[in-house]
Amino acid sequence: MEHERFLFALVNPIFALLFAMGFAFMRHRWPQYRYLASLSLAFLCLGYAFVLHDFRILTGPGDVNVWSNLLFVAAVLLACASALQRADLPAPLWPLVVVAVTGFLPFLWYLYVQPSLTARIFILGAVFAVVTAITAIRLLRRPSQTTADKLFVVGIFLAFVVSIIRPILLLMGTLDVASAGGFPQSDYWASIRAFTPVLSFGVAVLFLTAITVDIIAHLRGQADRDFLTNLLNRRGFEAAAGEVLKRDLNDTRQPALMVADIDNFKKVNDTYGHKAGDAVIAGVAKVLAQQGRGYLAARIGGEEFALYYRDMSRAELQDIANGLRDALTSVGFSGLPDTYRVTLSMGIHVSYHRESLIDMLGRADQALYRAKHEGKDKAVITPVQLHVASRSALGA
Ligand code: GH3
Ligand code: MG
Ligand code: MG
Repeated sequence: MEHERFLFALVNPIFALLFAMGFAFMRHRWPQYRYLASLSLAFLCLGYAFVLHDFRILTGPGDVNVWSNLLFVAAVLLACASALQRADLPAPLWPLVVVAVTGFLPFLWYLYVQPSLTARIFILGAVFAVVTAITAIRLLRRPSQTTADKLFVVGIFLAFVVSIIRPILLLMGTLDVASAGGFPQSDYWASIRAFTPVLSFGVAVLFLTAITVDIIAHLRGQADRDFLTNLLNRRGFEAAAGEVLKRDLNDTRQPALMVADIDNFKKVNDTYGHKAGDAVIAGVAKVLAQQGRGYLAARIGGEEFALYYRDMSRAELQDIANGLRDALTSVGFSGLPDTYRVTLSMGIHVSYHRESLIDMLGRADQALYRAKHEGKDKAVITPVQLHVASRSALGA
Protein backbone atom coordinates (compact mmCIF):
# COMPACT_ATOMS: atom_id res chain seq x y z
CA MET A 1 0.00 0.00 0.00
CA GLU A 2 2.81 2.39 0.96
CA HIS A 3 4.56 1.35 -2.20
CA GLU A 4 1.50 2.17 -4.30
CA ARG A 5 1.12 5.55 -2.66
CA PHE A 6 4.73 6.31 -3.40
CA LEU A 7 4.33 5.49 -7.11
CA PHE A 8 1.05 7.40 -7.23
CA ALA A 9 2.78 10.44 -5.75
CA LEU A 10 5.40 10.27 -8.50
CA VAL A 11 2.87 10.67 -11.31
CA ASN A 12 2.30 14.42 -10.90
CA PRO A 13 5.90 15.58 -10.78
CA ILE A 14 6.83 13.34 -13.70
CA PHE A 15 3.99 14.60 -15.87
CA ALA A 16 4.76 18.20 -14.99
CA LEU A 17 8.47 17.79 -15.60
CA LEU A 18 7.90 16.17 -19.00
CA PHE A 19 5.71 19.04 -20.12
CA ALA A 20 8.15 21.60 -18.69
CA MET A 21 10.93 19.97 -20.73
CA GLY A 22 8.76 19.76 -23.84
CA PHE A 23 7.83 23.46 -23.73
CA ALA A 24 11.44 24.43 -22.97
CA PHE A 25 12.59 22.44 -25.99
CA MET A 26 9.99 24.13 -28.21
CA ARG A 27 11.06 27.54 -26.90
CA HIS A 28 14.65 26.68 -27.77
CA ARG A 29 13.65 25.49 -31.23
CA TRP A 30 11.32 28.40 -32.04
CA PRO A 31 12.65 31.35 -30.00
CA GLN A 32 10.08 33.74 -31.45
CA TYR A 33 7.41 32.06 -29.29
CA ARG A 34 8.48 33.81 -26.14
CA TYR A 35 5.45 32.73 -24.14
CA LEU A 36 6.73 29.14 -24.13
CA ALA A 37 9.34 30.11 -21.53
CA SER A 38 6.74 31.08 -18.91
CA LEU A 39 4.66 28.04 -19.80
CA SER A 40 7.66 25.77 -19.24
CA LEU A 41 8.38 27.51 -15.93
CA ALA A 42 4.72 27.09 -14.91
CA PHE A 43 4.94 23.31 -15.31
CA LEU A 44 8.28 23.25 -13.50
CA CYS A 45 6.71 25.09 -10.54
CA LEU A 46 3.77 22.69 -10.59
CA GLY A 47 6.06 19.66 -10.54
CA TYR A 48 8.19 21.01 -7.73
CA ALA A 49 5.12 21.98 -5.72
CA PHE A 50 3.99 18.35 -5.83
CA VAL A 51 7.43 17.05 -4.93
CA LEU A 52 7.49 19.31 -1.89
CA HIS A 53 3.98 18.49 -0.85
CA ASP A 54 4.12 14.74 -1.31
CA PHE A 55 7.65 13.95 -0.28
CA ARG A 56 8.07 16.75 2.25
CA ILE A 57 11.63 17.34 1.22
CA LEU A 58 12.72 20.84 2.00
CA THR A 59 16.36 21.52 2.63
CA GLY A 60 16.10 25.30 2.89
CA PRO A 61 14.38 27.41 5.51
CA GLY A 62 10.63 27.80 5.91
CA ASP A 63 7.57 25.66 5.95
CA VAL A 64 6.95 23.04 3.27
CA ASN A 65 3.24 24.03 3.13
CA VAL A 66 4.07 27.63 2.41
CA TRP A 67 6.58 26.78 -0.28
CA SER A 68 4.48 24.20 -2.07
CA ASN A 69 1.44 26.46 -2.10
CA LEU A 70 3.51 29.43 -3.23
CA LEU A 71 4.69 27.26 -6.10
CA PHE A 72 1.12 26.22 -6.99
CA VAL A 73 0.11 29.87 -7.11
CA ALA A 74 3.21 30.71 -9.16
CA ALA A 75 2.38 27.90 -11.61
CA VAL A 76 -1.13 29.22 -12.22
CA LEU A 77 0.11 32.82 -12.49
CA LEU A 78 2.79 31.83 -14.99
CA ALA A 79 0.40 29.78 -17.11
CA CYS A 80 -2.04 32.72 -17.23
CA ALA A 81 0.76 35.20 -17.97
CA SER A 82 1.91 32.92 -20.77
CA ALA A 83 -1.57 32.77 -22.31
CA LEU A 84 -1.79 36.59 -22.18
CA GLN A 85 1.70 36.97 -23.63
CA ARG A 86 0.83 34.63 -26.48
CA ALA A 87 -2.22 36.74 -27.28
CA ASP A 88 0.00 39.87 -27.37
CA LEU A 89 -1.68 41.05 -24.20
CA PRO A 90 1.29 41.57 -21.92
CA ALA A 91 -1.05 44.29 -20.56
CA PRO A 92 -0.83 44.77 -16.82
CA LEU A 93 -0.01 41.59 -15.01
CA TRP A 94 -0.24 43.37 -11.70
CA PRO A 95 -3.95 42.61 -11.10
CA LEU A 96 -3.01 38.91 -11.18
CA VAL A 97 -0.10 39.45 -8.81
CA VAL A 98 -2.22 41.60 -6.48
CA VAL A 99 -4.86 38.86 -6.31
CA ALA A 100 -2.21 36.25 -5.58
CA VAL A 101 -0.50 38.28 -2.85
CA THR A 102 -3.79 39.37 -1.28
CA GLY A 103 -4.83 35.75 -1.15
CA PHE A 104 -1.56 34.58 0.30
CA LEU A 105 -1.66 36.86 3.35
CA PRO A 106 -4.86 35.33 4.79
CA PHE A 107 -3.45 31.95 3.76
CA LEU A 108 -0.48 32.55 6.10
CA TRP A 109 -2.88 33.71 8.82
CA TYR A 110 -4.84 30.45 8.62
CA LEU A 111 -1.62 28.48 8.60
CA TYR A 112 0.16 30.00 11.59
CA VAL A 113 -2.14 32.23 13.63
CA GLN A 114 -5.43 30.41 13.48
CA PRO A 115 -4.71 27.10 11.75
CA SER A 116 -7.59 26.04 9.50
CA LEU A 117 -7.13 23.72 6.56
CA THR A 118 -10.64 24.38 5.27
CA ALA A 119 -10.05 28.14 5.26
CA ARG A 120 -6.78 27.65 3.40
CA ILE A 121 -8.43 25.49 0.73
CA PHE A 122 -11.12 28.12 0.17
CA ILE A 123 -8.56 30.90 -0.05
CA LEU A 124 -6.41 29.10 -2.62
CA GLY A 125 -9.52 28.07 -4.59
CA ALA A 126 -10.62 31.71 -4.66
CA VAL A 127 -7.18 32.93 -5.76
CA PHE A 128 -7.02 30.41 -8.61
CA ALA A 129 -10.59 31.17 -9.66
CA VAL A 130 -10.08 34.96 -9.78
CA VAL A 131 -6.73 34.74 -11.58
CA THR A 132 -8.04 32.32 -14.22
CA ALA A 133 -11.29 34.28 -14.62
CA ILE A 134 -9.43 37.57 -15.19
CA THR A 135 -7.23 35.86 -17.77
CA ALA A 136 -10.11 34.17 -19.59
CA ILE A 137 -12.10 37.42 -19.75
CA ARG A 138 -9.12 39.32 -21.15
CA LEU A 139 -8.52 36.65 -23.78
CA LEU A 140 -12.18 36.61 -24.76
CA ARG A 141 -12.28 40.40 -25.16
CA ARG A 142 -9.92 40.18 -28.11
CA PRO A 143 -11.80 40.92 -31.33
CA SER A 144 -10.80 38.08 -33.68
CA GLN A 145 -10.36 34.61 -32.27
CA THR A 146 -8.44 31.90 -34.10
CA THR A 147 -8.86 28.21 -33.28
CA ALA A 148 -5.65 28.34 -31.25
CA ASP A 149 -6.95 31.35 -29.27
CA LYS A 150 -10.11 29.43 -28.43
CA LEU A 151 -8.14 26.39 -27.27
CA PHE A 152 -6.16 28.57 -24.88
CA VAL A 153 -9.37 30.04 -23.44
CA VAL A 154 -10.81 26.54 -22.97
CA GLY A 155 -7.60 25.50 -21.16
CA ILE A 156 -7.79 28.46 -18.80
CA PHE A 157 -11.53 27.91 -18.30
CA LEU A 158 -10.87 24.26 -17.40
CA ALA A 159 -8.46 25.42 -14.72
CA PHE A 160 -11.11 27.85 -13.45
CA VAL A 161 -13.76 25.12 -13.20
CA VAL A 162 -11.47 22.85 -11.25
CA SER A 163 -10.46 25.60 -8.85
CA ILE A 164 -14.07 26.22 -7.87
CA ILE A 165 -15.22 22.59 -7.96
CA ARG A 166 -12.99 21.46 -5.12
CA PRO A 167 -14.01 24.07 -2.54
CA ILE A 168 -17.65 23.46 -3.54
CA LEU A 169 -17.30 19.70 -2.98
CA LEU A 170 -15.68 20.44 0.36
CA LEU A 171 -18.53 22.75 1.29
CA MET A 172 -21.07 20.06 0.39
CA GLY A 173 -19.24 17.56 2.56
CA THR A 174 -18.41 15.31 -0.39
CA LEU A 175 -14.74 15.69 0.33
CA ASP A 176 -13.45 15.07 3.82
CA VAL A 177 -10.13 16.67 4.62
CA ALA A 178 -9.50 14.74 7.83
CA SER A 179 -10.50 11.21 6.86
CA ALA A 180 -8.14 8.27 7.36
CA GLY A 181 -5.61 9.96 9.56
CA GLY A 182 -4.65 13.41 8.43
CA PHE A 183 -4.50 15.59 5.35
CA PRO A 184 -2.01 13.68 3.17
CA GLN A 185 -4.26 10.61 3.46
CA SER A 186 -7.52 12.52 3.07
CA ASP A 187 -10.02 12.12 0.24
CA TYR A 188 -9.43 15.74 -0.57
CA TRP A 189 -5.74 15.35 -1.19
CA ALA A 190 -6.30 12.06 -3.00
CA SER A 191 -8.80 13.80 -5.25
CA ILE A 192 -6.35 16.57 -6.04
CA ARG A 193 -3.64 14.10 -6.77
CA ALA A 194 -5.83 11.94 -8.94
CA PHE A 195 -7.36 14.92 -10.67
CA THR A 196 -4.32 17.07 -11.23
CA PRO A 197 -2.51 14.80 -13.68
CA VAL A 198 -5.71 14.57 -15.70
CA LEU A 199 -6.20 18.31 -15.48
CA SER A 200 -2.63 19.44 -16.10
CA PHE A 201 -2.44 16.87 -18.88
CA GLY A 202 -5.62 18.32 -20.38
CA VAL A 203 -4.39 21.90 -20.06
CA ALA A 204 -0.95 21.00 -21.43
CA VAL A 205 -2.45 19.13 -24.40
CA LEU A 206 -4.72 22.10 -25.16
CA PHE A 207 -1.72 24.44 -25.02
CA LEU A 208 0.33 22.05 -27.16
CA THR A 209 -2.41 21.84 -29.78
CA ALA A 210 -2.77 25.62 -29.81
CA ILE A 211 0.98 26.06 -30.21
CA THR A 212 1.09 23.54 -33.04
CA VAL A 213 -1.76 25.35 -34.81
CA ASP A 214 0.18 28.63 -34.32
CA ILE A 215 3.37 27.20 -35.75
CA ILE A 216 1.64 25.62 -38.75
CA ALA A 217 -0.17 28.89 -39.54
CA HIS A 218 3.12 30.75 -39.23
CA LEU A 219 4.99 28.33 -41.49
CA ARG A 220 2.20 28.36 -44.04
CA GLY A 221 2.23 32.17 -44.02
CA GLN A 222 5.99 32.14 -44.52
CA ALA A 223 5.77 29.75 -47.45
CA ASP A 224 3.24 32.05 -49.17
CA ARG A 225 5.10 35.31 -48.54
CA ASP A 226 8.08 36.93 -50.10
CA PHE A 227 10.83 37.66 -47.62
CA LEU A 228 12.08 40.94 -49.14
CA THR A 229 8.73 42.72 -49.63
CA ASN A 230 6.40 40.78 -47.33
CA LEU A 231 3.94 40.65 -50.23
CA LEU A 232 2.50 37.32 -51.36
CA ASN A 233 4.92 35.34 -53.51
CA ARG A 234 3.87 33.70 -56.76
CA ARG A 235 2.72 30.54 -55.03
CA GLY A 236 0.75 32.49 -52.39
CA PHE A 237 -0.76 34.72 -55.06
CA GLU A 238 -1.90 31.85 -57.26
CA ALA A 239 -3.48 30.11 -54.30
CA ALA A 240 -5.18 33.20 -52.84
CA ALA A 241 -6.21 34.74 -56.16
CA GLY A 242 -7.48 31.37 -57.37
CA GLU A 243 -9.79 31.20 -54.35
CA VAL A 244 -11.03 34.78 -54.72
CA LEU A 245 -11.55 34.33 -58.46
CA LYS A 246 -13.74 31.29 -57.84
CA ARG A 247 -15.88 33.30 -55.40
CA ASP A 248 -16.01 36.33 -57.70
CA LEU A 249 -17.22 34.23 -60.64
CA ASN A 250 -19.96 32.75 -58.47
CA ASP A 251 -20.99 36.19 -57.23
CA THR A 252 -20.71 37.64 -60.76
CA ARG A 253 -18.17 40.20 -59.63
CA GLN A 254 -15.80 41.39 -62.30
CA PRO A 255 -12.18 40.40 -61.71
CA ALA A 256 -9.17 42.25 -63.09
CA LEU A 257 -5.40 41.92 -62.90
CA MET A 258 -2.49 44.27 -63.17
CA VAL A 259 1.04 43.04 -63.69
CA ALA A 260 3.82 45.57 -63.24
CA ASP A 261 7.50 45.25 -64.11
CA ILE A 262 10.24 47.67 -63.08
CA ASP A 263 11.84 49.29 -66.13
CA ASN A 264 15.54 48.86 -66.84
CA PHE A 265 16.06 47.25 -63.51
CA LYS A 266 19.17 45.41 -64.60
CA LYS A 267 20.80 48.83 -64.92
CA VAL A 268 20.05 49.60 -61.25
CA ASN A 269 21.80 46.40 -60.22
CA ASP A 270 24.71 46.92 -62.58
CA THR A 271 25.24 50.59 -61.72
CA TYR A 272 24.38 50.84 -58.02
CA GLY A 273 24.73 47.28 -56.82
CA HIS A 274 22.46 44.43 -55.80
CA LYS A 275 21.67 45.99 -52.41
CA ALA A 276 20.33 49.18 -54.03
CA GLY A 277 18.36 46.90 -56.37
CA ASP A 278 16.79 45.17 -53.38
CA ALA A 279 15.87 48.54 -51.86
CA VAL A 280 14.14 49.50 -55.13
CA ILE A 281 12.16 46.25 -55.17
CA ALA A 282 11.10 46.76 -51.53
CA GLY A 283 10.23 50.44 -52.16
CA VAL A 284 8.17 49.70 -55.27
CA ALA A 285 6.38 46.89 -53.38
CA LYS A 286 5.43 49.35 -50.65
CA VAL A 287 4.00 51.84 -53.15
CA LEU A 288 2.03 49.06 -54.90
CA ALA A 289 0.69 47.71 -51.60
CA GLN A 290 -0.30 51.14 -50.26
CA GLN A 291 -1.51 52.88 -53.40
CA GLY A 292 -2.24 50.07 -55.84
CA ARG A 293 -5.70 49.55 -54.25
CA GLY A 294 -5.55 45.86 -55.13
CA TYR A 295 -7.51 43.24 -53.22
CA LEU A 296 -4.31 41.16 -53.31
CA ALA A 297 -0.76 42.30 -53.98
CA ALA A 298 2.13 40.00 -54.83
CA ARG A 299 5.72 39.86 -56.02
CA ILE A 300 5.45 37.19 -58.69
CA GLY A 301 9.01 37.41 -60.02
CA GLY A 302 12.33 39.20 -59.49
CA GLU A 303 11.13 42.74 -60.26
CA GLU A 304 7.60 41.80 -61.29
CA PHE A 305 4.41 42.33 -59.34
CA ALA A 306 0.75 41.45 -59.65
CA LEU A 307 -2.39 43.04 -58.22
CA TYR A 308 -5.83 41.46 -58.15
CA TYR A 309 -8.92 43.69 -58.42
CA ARG A 310 -12.63 43.14 -57.88
CA ASP A 311 -15.28 45.24 -59.61
CA MET A 312 -12.98 47.98 -60.87
CA SER A 313 -13.85 49.75 -64.11
CA ARG A 314 -11.28 50.29 -66.85
CA ALA A 315 -11.28 54.01 -66.06
CA GLU A 316 -10.61 53.35 -62.38
CA LEU A 317 -7.75 50.99 -63.23
CA GLN A 318 -6.25 53.55 -65.58
CA ASP A 319 -6.47 56.13 -62.75
CA ILE A 320 -4.71 53.74 -60.38
CA ALA A 321 -1.91 53.22 -62.92
CA ASN A 322 -1.49 56.99 -63.30
CA GLY A 323 -1.50 57.37 -59.50
CA LEU A 324 1.25 54.77 -59.20
CA ARG A 325 3.40 56.59 -61.78
CA ASP A 326 2.97 59.85 -59.83
CA ALA A 327 3.67 58.16 -56.49
CA LEU A 328 6.90 56.65 -57.80
CA THR A 329 8.25 60.03 -58.88
CA SER A 330 8.12 61.28 -55.30
CA VAL A 331 9.70 58.24 -53.61
CA GLY A 332 13.41 58.22 -52.73
CA PHE A 333 15.33 54.96 -52.78
CA SER A 334 18.35 54.34 -50.60
CA GLY A 335 21.49 53.79 -52.64
CA LEU A 336 20.15 55.67 -55.68
CA PRO A 337 20.81 59.33 -56.56
CA ASP A 338 17.81 61.62 -55.92
CA THR A 339 17.52 62.34 -59.61
CA TYR A 340 17.07 58.68 -60.57
CA ARG A 341 13.51 57.93 -61.65
CA VAL A 342 12.22 54.44 -61.06
CA THR A 343 9.42 53.65 -63.49
CA LEU A 344 7.03 50.79 -64.09
CA SER A 345 5.46 49.25 -67.13
CA MET A 346 2.01 47.88 -66.44
CA GLY A 347 -0.32 45.49 -68.16
CA ILE A 348 -3.98 45.49 -67.16
CA HIS A 349 -6.59 42.92 -68.02
CA VAL A 350 -10.25 43.08 -67.11
CA SER A 351 -11.98 39.76 -67.48
CA TYR A 352 -15.40 39.87 -69.11
CA HIS A 353 -16.05 36.18 -69.29
CA ARG A 354 -15.09 33.17 -67.24
CA GLU A 355 -11.32 32.89 -67.58
CA SER A 356 -8.88 30.99 -65.43
CA LEU A 357 -6.33 32.89 -63.38
CA ILE A 358 -3.54 31.61 -65.61
CA ASP A 359 -5.34 32.89 -68.72
CA MET A 360 -5.88 36.26 -67.05
CA LEU A 361 -2.19 36.44 -66.11
CA GLY A 362 -1.24 35.58 -69.67
CA ARG A 363 -3.43 38.34 -71.10
CA ALA A 364 -2.14 40.90 -68.59
CA ASP A 365 1.40 39.84 -69.53
CA GLN A 366 0.66 40.47 -73.21
CA ALA A 367 -0.44 43.98 -72.32
CA LEU A 368 2.71 44.46 -70.24
CA TYR A 369 4.79 43.32 -73.18
CA ARG A 370 3.11 45.95 -75.34
CA ALA A 371 3.81 48.63 -72.72
CA LYS A 372 7.50 47.67 -72.78
CA HIS A 373 7.46 47.65 -76.57
CA GLU A 374 5.85 51.08 -76.76
CA GLY A 375 8.59 52.70 -74.72
CA LYS A 376 7.99 51.65 -71.06
CA ASP A 377 6.79 53.82 -68.14
CA LYS A 378 3.16 53.35 -69.13
CA ALA A 379 0.12 51.18 -68.64
CA VAL A 380 -1.56 49.23 -71.42
CA ILE A 381 -4.99 47.74 -70.97
CA THR A 382 -6.21 44.76 -73.00
CA PRO A 383 -9.03 45.52 -75.44
CA VAL A 384 -12.59 44.75 -74.40
CA GLN A 385 -13.27 41.17 -75.39
CA LEU A 386 -16.82 40.12 -75.82
CA HIS A 387 -17.43 36.49 -75.27
CA VAL A 388 -17.28 34.99 -78.71
CA ALA A 389 -18.20 31.39 -79.26
CA SER A 390 -15.22 29.25 -80.21
CA ARG A 391 -14.47 28.58 -83.84
CA SER A 392 -15.43 24.97 -83.61
CA ALA A 393 -18.83 25.95 -82.23
CA LEU A 394 -19.26 28.18 -85.26
CA GLY A 395 -18.53 25.22 -87.43
CA ALA A 396 -15.19 26.59 -88.67
P1 GH3 B 1 12.92 45.76 -68.70
O1 GH3 B 1 12.79 47.25 -68.64
O2 GH3 B 1 12.73 45.24 -70.09
O3 GH3 B 1 12.03 45.11 -67.71
O4 GH3 B 1 14.42 45.42 -68.35
P2 GH3 B 1 14.97 44.95 -66.96
O5 GH3 B 1 16.40 45.25 -66.88
O6 GH3 B 1 14.12 45.51 -65.87
O7 GH3 B 1 14.65 43.40 -67.00
P3 GH3 B 1 15.57 42.11 -67.02
O8 GH3 B 1 14.62 40.97 -67.03
O9 GH3 B 1 16.57 42.20 -68.13
O10 GH3 B 1 16.37 42.15 -65.65
C1 GH3 B 1 15.79 41.91 -64.44
C2 GH3 B 1 16.89 41.81 -63.42
O11 GH3 B 1 16.41 41.72 -62.09
C3 GH3 B 1 17.74 40.57 -63.61
C4 GH3 B 1 17.98 40.05 -62.20
O12 GH3 B 1 19.35 39.92 -61.94
C5 GH3 B 1 17.38 41.10 -61.32
N1 GH3 B 1 16.79 40.57 -60.09
C6 GH3 B 1 15.90 39.57 -59.98
N2 GH3 B 1 15.56 39.38 -58.68
C7 GH3 B 1 16.28 40.27 -57.95
C8 GH3 B 1 16.37 40.55 -56.55
O13 GH3 B 1 15.72 39.94 -55.70
N3 GH3 B 1 17.22 41.54 -56.16
C9 GH3 B 1 17.95 42.25 -57.07
N4 GH3 B 1 18.76 43.21 -56.61
N5 GH3 B 1 17.90 41.98 -58.39
C10 GH3 B 1 17.07 41.02 -58.84
MG1 MG C 1 12.11 44.84 -65.74
MG1 MG D 1 11.07 41.34 -65.53
